[in-house]
Amino acid sequence: MDLDFDRQHIWHPYSSLIDPPPVYPVARAEGVRLFLEDGRGLIDGMSSWWCALHGYNVPELNRAAQEQMEKMSHVMFGGLTHEPAIELSKKLVEITPAPLQRVFLADSGSVSVEVSIKMALQYWQSQGHPEKNRLLALRNGYHGDTFGAMATCDPVTGMHNLFASHLTQHLFAPAPKPKFDEPCTDEDMAELRQLMEQNREQLAAVILEPIVQGAGGMRFYSPQYLKRVRELCDEYDLLLIADEIATGFGRSGKLFACEHAGISPDILTLGKALTGGTMTMAATLCTDRVAGGICRGEAGVFMHGPTFMGNPLACAVSNASIELLLSGPWQDRVARIEKQLRDELSPLNDADGVADVRALGAIGVVEMKQPVNMMQVQEALIDRGVWLRPFGRLVYAMPPYVMDEADLRQLTGAVVDVLGKL
Ligand SMILES: *Cc1c(COP(=O)(O)O)cnc(C)c1O
Repeated sequence: MDLDFDRQHIWHPYSSLIDPPPVYPVARAEGVRLFLEDGRGLIDGMSSWWCALHGYNVPELNRAAQEQMEKMSHVMFGGLTHEPAIELSKKLVEITPAPLQRVFLADSGSVSVEVSIKMALQYWQSQGHPEKNRLLALRNGYHGDTFGAMATCDPVTGMHNLFASHLTQHLFAPAPKPKFDEPCTDEDMAELRQLMEQNREQLAAVILEPIVQGAGGMRFYSPQYLKRVRELCDEYDLLLIADEIATGFGRSGKLFACEHAGISPDILTLGKALTGGTMTMAATLCTDRVAGGICRGEAGVFMHGPTFMGNPLACAVSNASIELLLSGPWQDRVARIEKQLRDELSPLNDADGVADVRALGAIGVVEMKQPVNMMQVQEALIDRGVWLRPFGRLVYAMPPYVMDEADLRQLTGAVVDVLGKL
């Protein structure tokens, strides 16, 4: 591979073209392994950023893509419809919390977040409340890289500083304090409640990642907190947007993380694992109330419609991925991975540089006291046959659900070995 060309011409995520970090050439991927050009196989602990639930080169997904490709890879969704989109929307309505009945198929996670924000604003506009146009988000939250989504990311650890003058100024409540297995007190909700109370006239919706704050810190918080946010949204008549782009499809141990709290949002965003990691696809679901409100408004229609909306190929693969997931023992697999991650990473609790070790569902996190040298840690892990991508103080794994015990043991062993020596 022409890595020189890559270095000089191609942006990678959050990278420099003046001082580019090393990138490793992948030739193919199979099962839970990425194969580098030089033949080395790496156990993938990232699921390609939460996506590849079933691992790689999955026959069921390949077949779905091939069969659909021979019928049509894409047709416009304006004025036309097709079986893969109908089937996918039926599935999504069926498996998500009951009040979510209306489906908008989008082409990436960030776009589905933009769509969710637009839905919330258009809903209030059509209710005669155009002044309700701000969102209440959580510190440590992450919702994507486009401008609307970016404005809801953590204002300090996110990208606000650089673009502050171009971003809508939303409101931010502190990150949820009670941990996953802790109860939630009135005091834990006080600041959020106060922000709602003081800004109820301008607030359209709360946006949050349910239970797991992902890219903003890999934090797991109390289902009781989520339940209380739902109650407060009802009390102050705000919509609740749940961003399950990372948590959806079983990652947190429930099919959707909202189920931990037994709540339903008014608007739900899905992405990442929707196609099982084969290609890009996302969806925004909403309730009848939101959809009806929007469509009875002045505009009469929902104002959004990307070119690749409802792409048939992506819908067909999503259908195959959801079927494959639901027809297998995913709960058992995820529960086993959770236990193994917790057990095998726990020795790091005694290591000097480690602040916390935690696991929930198929997510294992080692939080260090100091930021880690990503390149150095990455390289040491690669030497041990493992692919992870640490960021900041976090070294974390979210393996494909199909990873067997031995591969996961090699992965956790490598992490313990490398971090224990830091
Ligand atoms: C990844 C992610 C997004 C953005 O999705 P993209 O497909 O990268 O645009 C939004 N919200 C959450 C919670 C995410 O993890």
